[in-house]
Amino acid sequence: MLVIQCRNCGTQEVWPAQRQKWWYEVRKGNINTRAVLCRDCRSAQMQRKAEARDAAIKPR
Ligand SMILES: [Zn+2]
Repeated sequence: MLVIQCRNCGTQEVWPAQRQKWWYEVRKGNINTRAVLCRDCRSAQMQRKAEARDAAIKPR
């Protein structure tokens, strides 16, 4: 079992084998660039991106 440390908040989180497989086989991720955000920060980041995108396409 692999534990990662979130680079944003420092939380340690178990990295499930299923996600490892996805990272290496689907994303072709490098061992040194593996997922480094915990679940909370990842969803927060995705939400920020979605909001930025929505703001960008909104007519002014
Ligand atoms: Zn985090």
